[in-house]
Amino acid sequence: MKESVRLQYLAAMGIDVWVPRHQSVREQVSAEVVGCASQTEAYQGDMVEFQTAVTPILASTEVAGDHKHDLTSLTAPARDALAPVTQHAKVYTDDQAWKGLQQQVSLCRACSLCETRTQTVFGVGNKHASWMLIGEAPGRDEDLQGEPFVGRAGQLLNEMIRAIGLQREQVYIANMLKCRPPNNRDPQAGEVEACHEFLTRQIGLIQPKIILAVGRIAAQNLLNTTQPLAKLRGHQHSLENTPLVVVHHPAYLLRSLSEKAKAWEDLQFAWSVYQSLES
Ligand code: SF4
Repeated sequence: MKESVRLQYLAAMGIDVWVPRHQSVREQVSAEVVGCASQTEAYQGDMVEFQTAVTPILASTEVAGDHKHDLTSLTAPARDALAPVTQHAKVYTDDQAWKGLQQQVSLCRACSLCETRTQTVFGVGNKHASWMLIGEAPGRDEDLQGEPFVGRAGQLLNEMIRAIGLQREQVYIANMLKCRPPNNRDPQAGEVEACHEFLTRQIGLIQPKIILAVGRIAAQNLLNTTQPLAKLRGHQHSLENTPLVVVHHPAYLLRSLSEKAKAWEDLQFAWSVYQSLES
Protein backbone atom coordinates (compact mmCIF):
# COMPACT_ATOMS: atom_id res chain seq x y z
CA MET A 1 0.00 0.00 0.00
CA LYS A 2 1.38 3.40 -0.89
CA GLU A 3 2.33 5.59 2.02
CA SER A 4 0.01 8.34 0.81
CA VAL A 5 -2.94 5.93 0.61
CA ARG A 6 -2.18 4.57 4.04
CA LEU A 7 -2.07 8.06 5.51
CA GLN A 8 -5.26 8.98 3.67
CA TYR A 9 -7.02 5.97 5.17
CA LEU A 10 -5.93 6.86 8.65
CA ALA A 11 -6.62 10.55 8.18
CA ALA A 12 -10.13 9.68 7.05
CA MET A 13 -10.63 8.02 10.39
CA GLY A 14 -9.32 11.07 12.20
CA ILE A 15 -6.25 9.29 13.46
CA ASP A 16 -2.73 10.68 13.73
CA VAL A 17 -0.18 7.90 13.62
CA TRP A 18 3.51 8.38 14.32
CA VAL A 19 5.63 5.46 13.22
CA PRO A 20 9.35 5.22 13.99
CA ARG A 21 11.36 4.18 10.95
CA HIS A 22 13.01 1.27 12.73
CA GLN A 23 9.73 -0.56 13.30
CA SER A 24 9.08 -3.69 11.29
CA VAL A 25 6.13 -3.98 8.96
CA ARG A 26 4.35 -6.18 11.45
CA GLU A 27 4.95 -3.67 14.23
CA GLN A 28 3.84 -0.79 12.07
CA VAL A 29 0.56 -2.34 11.01
CA SER A 30 -0.11 -3.74 14.44
CA ALA A 31 0.52 -0.34 15.99
CA GLU A 32 -1.84 1.24 13.55
CA VAL A 33 -4.53 -1.32 14.21
CA VAL A 34 -4.15 -1.03 17.97
CA GLY A 35 -3.99 2.75 17.80
CA CYS A 36 -7.02 2.93 15.58
CA ALA A 37 -9.06 0.65 17.77
CA SER A 38 -8.25 2.54 20.92
CA GLN A 39 -8.77 6.03 19.52
CA THR A 40 -12.27 5.73 18.25
CA GLU A 41 -15.30 3.67 18.99
CA ALA A 42 -17.24 5.17 16.15
CA TYR A 43 -15.09 3.43 13.56
CA GLN A 44 -14.92 0.02 15.17
CA GLY A 45 -16.72 -1.51 12.24
CA ASP A 46 -14.11 -0.16 9.89
CA MET A 47 -11.32 -1.40 12.12
CA VAL A 48 -12.70 -4.91 12.22
CA GLU A 49 -12.63 -4.91 8.46
CA PHE A 50 -9.16 -3.42 8.42
CA GLN A 51 -7.82 -5.99 10.88
CA THR A 52 -9.47 -8.82 9.02
CA ALA A 53 -7.73 -7.77 5.85
CA VAL A 54 -4.38 -7.00 7.42
CA THR A 55 -3.92 -10.12 9.57
CA PRO A 56 -3.40 -12.64 6.75
CA ILE A 57 -1.19 -10.15 4.98
CA LEU A 58 1.07 -9.90 7.97
CA ALA A 59 1.34 -13.65 8.03
CA SER A 60 2.25 -13.95 4.38
CA THR A 61 4.16 -10.80 3.61
CA GLU A 62 7.75 -11.13 2.52
CA VAL A 63 9.73 -7.98 2.99
CA ALA A 64 13.14 -7.77 1.43
CA GLY A 65 16.15 -5.60 0.87
CA ASP A 66 16.76 -2.11 2.06
CA HIS A 67 13.07 -1.34 2.27
CA LYS A 68 12.21 -3.76 5.01
CA HIS A 69 10.95 -0.97 7.24
CA ASP A 70 8.72 0.47 4.56
CA LEU A 71 5.13 -0.64 3.98
CA THR A 72 5.47 0.28 0.29
CA SER A 73 7.71 -2.77 -0.09
CA LEU A 74 4.80 -5.18 0.43
CA THR A 75 4.79 -7.97 -2.10
CA ALA A 76 2.31 -7.92 -4.97
CA PRO A 77 0.04 -10.54 -3.33
CA ALA A 78 0.02 -8.46 -0.18
CA ARG A 79 -0.85 -5.32 -2.11
CA ASP A 80 -3.62 -7.25 -3.89
CA ALA A 81 -4.91 -8.44 -0.55
CA LEU A 82 -4.92 -4.89 0.73
CA ALA A 83 -6.76 -3.58 -2.34
CA PRO A 84 -10.24 -4.04 -0.81
CA VAL A 85 -9.10 -2.09 2.24
CA THR A 86 -7.75 0.67 0.02
CA GLN A 87 -10.99 0.73 -1.94
CA HIS A 88 -13.00 0.81 1.26
CA ALA A 89 -10.85 3.67 2.51
CA LYS A 90 -11.45 5.64 -0.68
CA VAL A 91 -15.21 5.10 -0.53
CA TYR A 92 -15.20 6.07 3.12
CA THR A 93 -13.08 9.18 2.48
CA ASP A 94 -15.23 10.27 -0.47
CA ASP A 95 -18.38 9.75 1.56
CA GLN A 96 -17.05 11.95 4.34
CA ALA A 97 -15.99 14.59 1.80
CA TRP A 98 -19.45 14.63 0.21
CA LYS A 99 -21.14 14.98 3.58
CA GLY A 100 -18.81 17.78 4.61
CA LEU A 101 -19.26 19.62 1.34
CA GLN A 102 -23.04 19.33 1.41
CA GLN A 103 -23.13 20.65 4.94
CA GLN A 104 -20.89 23.57 4.02
CA VAL A 105 -23.17 24.48 1.14
CA SER A 106 -26.30 24.26 3.28
CA LEU A 107 -24.78 26.69 5.79
CA CYS A 108 -23.13 29.00 3.25
CA ARG A 109 -23.74 32.73 3.52
CA ALA A 110 -20.94 33.85 1.20
CA CYS A 111 -23.20 35.91 -1.03
CA SER A 112 -26.50 37.72 -0.65
CA LEU A 113 -28.51 34.93 -2.27
CA CYS A 114 -28.57 33.23 1.11
CA GLU A 115 -31.04 35.91 2.22
CA THR A 116 -33.70 34.99 -0.29
CA ARG A 117 -33.29 31.26 -0.80
CA THR A 118 -35.77 28.76 0.54
CA GLN A 119 -32.96 26.22 0.70
CA THR A 120 -29.69 25.46 -1.04
CA VAL A 121 -29.79 23.21 -4.09
CA PHE A 122 -26.69 21.06 -3.85
CA GLY A 123 -26.88 18.63 -6.75
CA VAL A 124 -28.26 15.21 -7.45
CA GLY A 125 -27.34 11.95 -9.14
CA ASN A 126 -24.61 9.38 -9.40
CA LYS A 127 -21.52 10.49 -7.51
CA HIS A 128 -19.37 8.33 -9.78
CA ALA A 129 -21.04 9.47 -12.98
CA SER A 130 -19.19 9.68 -16.27
CA TRP A 131 -21.50 12.51 -17.35
CA MET A 132 -21.94 15.68 -15.30
CA LEU A 133 -24.47 18.33 -16.31
CA ILE A 134 -24.06 21.87 -15.00
CA GLY A 135 -26.75 24.53 -15.26
CA GLU A 136 -26.68 28.13 -14.11
CA ALA A 137 -28.76 28.34 -10.92
CA PRO A 138 -31.89 27.01 -9.24
CA GLY A 139 -35.23 28.40 -10.38
CA ARG A 140 -38.45 28.63 -8.39
CA ASP A 141 -39.28 24.90 -8.50
CA GLU A 142 -35.71 23.93 -7.66
CA ASP A 143 -35.59 26.38 -4.77
CA LEU A 144 -38.79 24.85 -3.37
CA GLN A 145 -37.83 21.23 -3.92
CA GLY A 146 -34.10 21.44 -3.23
CA GLU A 147 -33.20 19.60 -6.43
CA PRO A 148 -31.77 20.96 -9.70
CA PHE A 149 -33.71 20.74 -12.95
CA VAL A 150 -37.19 19.78 -11.81
CA GLY A 151 -40.51 20.93 -13.30
CA ARG A 152 -41.06 21.10 -17.07
CA ALA A 153 -37.47 22.05 -17.86
CA GLY A 154 -36.32 19.16 -15.71
CA GLN A 155 -38.58 16.74 -17.56
CA LEU A 156 -37.18 17.91 -20.88
CA LEU A 157 -33.64 17.58 -19.53
CA ASN A 158 -34.50 14.00 -18.55
CA GLU A 159 -35.55 13.39 -22.16
CA MET A 160 -32.29 14.89 -23.35
CA ILE A 161 -30.40 12.56 -21.03
CA ARG A 162 -32.41 9.60 -22.34
CA ALA A 163 -31.47 10.68 -25.86
CA ILE A 164 -27.86 9.81 -25.08
CA GLY A 165 -28.94 6.45 -23.70
CA LEU A 166 -28.82 7.30 -20.00
CA GLN A 167 -31.23 7.74 -17.12
CA ARG A 168 -31.27 10.79 -14.87
CA GLU A 169 -29.98 8.63 -12.00
CA GLN A 170 -26.88 7.70 -13.99
CA VAL A 171 -25.58 11.25 -14.43
CA TYR A 172 -24.78 13.97 -11.90
CA ILE A 173 -26.68 17.25 -12.18
CA ALA A 174 -25.65 20.47 -10.47
CA ASN A 175 -25.76 24.20 -10.93
CA MET A 176 -23.04 26.85 -10.77
CA LEU A 177 -24.98 28.58 -8.03
CA LYS A 178 -26.49 26.65 -5.16
CA CYS A 179 -29.04 29.34 -4.29
CA ARG A 180 -31.81 30.86 -6.41
CA PRO A 181 -31.30 34.41 -7.70
CA PRO A 182 -34.46 36.45 -6.97
CA ASN A 183 -36.99 36.36 -9.81
CA ASN A 184 -34.68 34.03 -11.72
CA ARG A 185 -32.42 36.89 -12.77
CA ASP A 186 -29.05 36.04 -14.26
CA PRO A 187 -26.32 35.20 -11.75
CA GLN A 188 -23.96 38.06 -10.98
CA ALA A 189 -20.21 37.69 -11.34
CA GLY A 190 -19.61 37.96 -7.58
CA GLU A 191 -22.15 35.23 -6.89
CA VAL A 192 -20.57 32.91 -9.44
CA GLU A 193 -17.15 33.54 -7.95
CA ALA A 194 -18.39 33.01 -4.39
CA CYS A 195 -19.96 29.69 -5.30
CA HIS A 196 -17.28 28.45 -7.67
CA GLU A 197 -15.29 26.51 -5.09
CA PHE A 198 -18.28 24.30 -4.31
CA LEU A 199 -18.68 23.34 -7.94
CA THR A 200 -14.96 22.71 -8.32
CA ARG A 201 -15.03 20.37 -5.36
CA GLN A 202 -18.04 18.52 -6.75
CA ILE A 203 -16.22 18.02 -10.04
CA GLY A 204 -13.14 16.86 -8.16
CA LEU A 205 -15.10 14.25 -6.23
CA ILE A 206 -17.08 12.96 -9.20
CA GLN A 207 -14.23 13.12 -11.71
CA PRO A 208 -16.62 12.89 -14.67
CA LYS A 209 -15.39 11.92 -18.09
CA ILE A 210 -17.41 14.65 -19.77
CA ILE A 211 -19.23 17.79 -18.64
CA LEU A 212 -22.25 19.32 -20.35
CA ALA A 213 -22.69 23.04 -19.77
CA VAL A 214 -26.44 23.46 -19.96
CA GLY A 215 -27.41 26.79 -21.50
CA ARG A 216 -25.67 30.02 -22.43
CA ILE A 217 -25.23 31.45 -18.94
CA ALA A 218 -23.59 28.33 -17.58
CA ALA A 219 -21.41 27.96 -20.66
CA GLN A 220 -20.19 31.56 -20.64
CA ASN A 221 -19.42 31.54 -16.93
CA LEU A 222 -17.77 28.14 -16.87
CA LEU A 223 -15.66 28.98 -19.91
CA ASN A 224 -15.07 32.57 -18.84
CA THR A 225 -16.15 33.97 -22.18
CA THR A 226 -18.76 36.30 -23.61
CA GLN A 227 -19.08 34.40 -26.87
CA PRO A 228 -22.66 33.60 -27.85
CA LEU A 229 -24.05 30.10 -27.51
CA ALA A 230 -24.03 29.66 -31.27
CA LYS A 231 -20.24 30.00 -31.24
CA LEU A 232 -19.71 27.80 -28.22
CA ARG A 233 -21.86 24.80 -29.19
CA GLY A 234 -20.41 22.17 -31.49
CA HIS A 235 -16.91 22.49 -30.04
CA GLN A 236 -15.03 20.54 -27.42
CA HIS A 237 -13.98 22.79 -24.55
CA SER A 238 -12.32 21.95 -21.24
CA LEU A 239 -13.11 22.57 -17.57
CA GLU A 240 -10.92 21.29 -14.74
CA ASN A 241 -9.06 19.18 -17.32
CA THR A 242 -12.34 17.54 -18.30
CA PRO A 243 -13.86 17.78 -21.80
CA LEU A 244 -16.84 20.12 -21.82
CA VAL A 245 -19.59 20.41 -24.41
CA VAL A 246 -22.19 23.17 -24.51
CA VAL A 247 -25.87 22.25 -24.98
CA HIS A 248 -29.05 24.30 -25.14
CA HIS A 249 -30.94 24.87 -21.90
CA PRO A 250 -34.23 22.91 -21.77
CA ALA A 251 -36.09 26.02 -20.57
CA TYR A 252 -34.99 27.78 -23.77
CA LEU A 253 -36.11 24.80 -25.84
CA LEU A 254 -39.54 24.92 -24.19
CA ARG A 255 -39.85 28.51 -25.38
CA SER A 256 -38.42 27.81 -28.84
CA LEU A 257 -39.62 24.42 -29.96
CA SER A 258 -38.11 24.99 -33.40
CA GLU A 259 -34.66 24.82 -31.76
CA LYS A 260 -35.14 21.24 -30.62
CA ALA A 261 -33.29 19.99 -33.68
CA LYS A 262 -30.24 21.97 -32.54
CA ALA A 263 -30.53 20.40 -29.11
CA TRP A 264 -30.38 16.99 -30.74
CA GLU A 265 -27.28 18.09 -32.68
CA ASP A 266 -25.70 19.20 -29.40
CA LEU A 267 -26.34 15.83 -27.81
CA GLN A 268 -25.06 13.93 -30.82
CA PHE A 269 -21.88 15.99 -30.71
CA ALA A 270 -21.52 15.38 -26.97
CA TRP A 271 -21.97 11.65 -27.55
CA SER A 272 -19.31 11.66 -30.26
CA VAL A 273 -16.88 13.43 -27.92
CA TYR A 274 -17.62 10.91 -25.19
CA GLN A 275 -17.09 7.98 -27.55
CA SER A 276 -13.78 9.42 -28.69
CA LEU A 277 -12.70 9.42 -25.04
CA GLU A 278 -13.64 5.77 -24.66
CA SER A 279 -11.74 4.58 -27.73
S1 SF4 B 1 -25.12 30.99 -4.01
FE1 SF4 B 1 -23.36 29.76 -3.36
S2 SF4 B 1 -21.95 31.27 -2.46
FE2 SF4 B 1 -23.98 32.27 -2.54
S3 SF4 B 1 -24.88 31.81 -0.53
FE3 SF4 B 1 -25.57 30.21 -1.96
S4 SF4 B 1 -24.10 28.54 -1.64
FE4 SF4 B 1 -23.16 30.39 -0.78
